[in-house]
Amino acid sequence: MNNTGVWDVVVIGSGPGGYAAAFRASDLGKKVLLIDRDEKLGGVCLNRGCIPSKALLHIVKIVNETQHLSKVGVSFGDPKFDIEKIRNHKNKIISQLNSGISQLAKARKVSVLSGKASFVTNSEILVETKEGDEKIKFKHCIIASGSTSSMLPNVPLNHPSILTSKTALDLESVPESLLIIGGGIIGLELGQVYSTLGSSVSVVEYMSSLVPGADDDITKPLIRKLKKQFKSIMLSSKVTNVDVGSEGEVKVSIEKNNEIKERMYEKVLVAVGRKPNTDLLQLENTDVKVNDKGFIVVDEYQKTTVNSIFAIGDIAGNPMLAHKATHEGKVAAEVCAGLPAAMDAKAIPSVVYTDPEIAWVGLTEKEAADKGIPYELGDFPWSASGKAMILNASQGKTKILFEPETKKVLGGAIVGPVAGDLISEVSLALEMGSDVEDLALTVHPHPTLGETVGAAAEVLEGTMTDLFIPQKRK
Ligand code: NAD
Repeated sequence: MNNTGVWDVVVIGSGPGGYAAAFRASDLGKKVLLIDRDEKLGGVCLNRGCIPSKALLHIVKIVNETQHLSKVGVSFGDPKFDIEKIRNHKNKIISQLNSGISQLAKARKVSVLSGKASFVTNSEILVETKEGDEKIKFKHCIIASGSTSSMLPNVPLNHPSILTSKTALDLESVPESLLIIGGGIIGLELGQVYSTLGSSVSVVEYMSSLVPGADDDITKPLIRKLKKQFKSIMLSSKVTNVDVGSEGEVKVSIEKNNEIKERMYEKVLVAVGRKPNTDLLQLENTDVKVNDKGFIVVDEYQKTTVNSIFAIGDIAGNPMLAHKATHEGKVAAEVCAGLPAAMDAKAIPSVVYTDPEIAWVGLTEKEAADKGIPYELGDFPWSASGKAMILNASQGKTKILFEPETKKVLGGAIVGPVAGDLISEVSLALEMGSDVEDLALTVHPHPTLGETVGAAAEVLEGTMTDLFIPQKRK
């Protein structure tokens, strides 16, 4: 790359945060350089995270639906999986999206450089490329270099029998038995993929519940399903040791209530969280401050402790979610361009794309109980929804938490098909400062699952007619 000048904006990392930041800065008239150590743009989300996992989970959902249909008079026979074709299908989606990002960069005249970036000073980076090292000067730099899977100290690294979310999504083979360490979002999403493809899946979770961040009534329908799909779910349990034998078989020691049991698995997937990629950046050559968890410290403008350096996405703190990164990326780009932007989102929605899906935004009942926050609840069981019944989803539910005085939306949670899409209405209500009446009086189309959001508000209002709740009638 022939560059001797000073770039207006250099973005390190081309994930959903980084490319959004680069494109927004370019649209605002800035001369932008986008750098990634991976030649394929799109970061973890596109290449080895959200997109491939959702492509596989779509297959899980269809298989589950056909199984339900056999109970209502339509049979298809047992599914047969051609792993190579499934892998190619997933990879094709990834490469179409990769080239989409490259085309968008080209159309905007955003320059792209492949190489590993690290800081030399507060205004200069070094990029190690295949062609050699390049020093690059910038007016503004946006760090969007993401996170990597955390590993456990007693688990061997880089062994083919030990999977991370990245290698699990490569879908090299379907093991007969798979232990997943960590019953969080990645563990359950990939567990359902492998169990549908034929693995006998077990999960070991350190905490006393799966998806510990979500309320128990919301995870309940998912757990009920997983209990049928998985061989075992071990809660309040800790993996104390992992040994890989000469044939690649894995011996795992699992401790519960001070008792240790040993189990054998063909493969083990470690899904115990992610850590920010701060250590690759040589931030010690700058005045950028990193906190004790390894996240770069930023303010509401996504600015680090150096005025010209910004950080967004996973590297700038939890929650590590693509949509948070995108939002922050746009804020950082706009601040670089002198616009009065700030990260002031009231809440970031979370979605677990299992079958059934789980989604929540804002205050949960767990958090309200922990912090002593008062709330009123509008709770609508999907057993009263015609659309849910048609979709075999009557175990689902929609609940919304309201502030007792003002009746403004504080948060909400949904379990059932497309919960991740439905939660957006609750997010909008929260963002707009809507109250229970706004939701209850919004006309929702019938029959849809979207109706359940209005219905949850009607339950609290006492105007619900699809349920009989004597004490709530007004
Ligand atoms: P997570 O934090 O969701 O779950 C990790 C789980 O592992 C937790 O439940 C934790 O209690 C458990 N755990 C930790 N140490 C353990 C141990 N030693 N033994 C047993 N259990 C242990 O993390 P993840 O599932 O790895 O996901 C990483 C990040 O990626 C998260 O921030 C997540 O939000 C994000 N992500 C999001 C999506 C999505 O939006 N659908 C999908 C995948 C990942």
